[in-house]
Amino acid sequence: MKIICIGRNYTEHIKELANEKPTEPVVFLKPDTAMLLKKQPFFIPDFSNDVHHEVEVLVKIDRIGKYIDSKFSHKYYSQIGLGIDFTARDLQAKLKAKGLPWEKAKSFDGAAVIGNWVDKSKFESMDTLNFHLEKNGEKVQVGNTANMLWKIDEIIAYVSQYFTLKIGDIIFTGTPSGVGRVVVNDTLDGFLEEEKLFSIRVK
Ligand code: ZN
Repeated sequence: MKIICIGRNYTEHIKELANEKPTEPVVFLKPDTAMLLKKQPFFIPDFSNDVHHEVEVLVKIDRIGKYIDSKFSHKYYSQIGLGIDFTARDLQAKLKAKGLPWEKAKSFDGAAVIGNWVDKSKFESMDTLNFHLEKNGEKVQVGNTANMLWKIDEIIAYVSQYFTLKIGDIIFTGTPSGVGRVVVNDTLDGFLEEEKLFSIRVK
């Protein structure tokens, strides 16, 4: 399986990192080894002093597809979830400055938190989902998928022009504002609507 991630998909987050607003989705990949194993803590890697949490809505692909028309995207997934795209911001800044790929800063072991899955039929629309992240019990990131520049069905259509989507692939759909540094002993809890889908301890 592969993990496909969308960057810069919420205006407020683009502003907080002083990035340019993209004219097309920003796309990068994480390998399967980036998945944080269930019930394991997240270990801050030695090569970074500034790892940030980015809470994101996830989509699990359950049908193979290529060149998917966005009006059919909904047929390619039945479950959604919530996760964290951990980012070594200091390393990413160095790579960005040199115009180099981001993978080392975003795709290291444990950098993809994948919470529990929820049937999408539980929700009226994919485009009005509330979600938030709590750090040590305090809300630090609050998002609603209505504020995405590219909505879930558009993302599926877009990325499938480049990558064949396969059963089990996961899409990270971008983070809202409020990203920030994690330190040892932090606890990160992710909520989709009011349901807690993950709880991660930082080591
Ligand atoms: Zn992200």
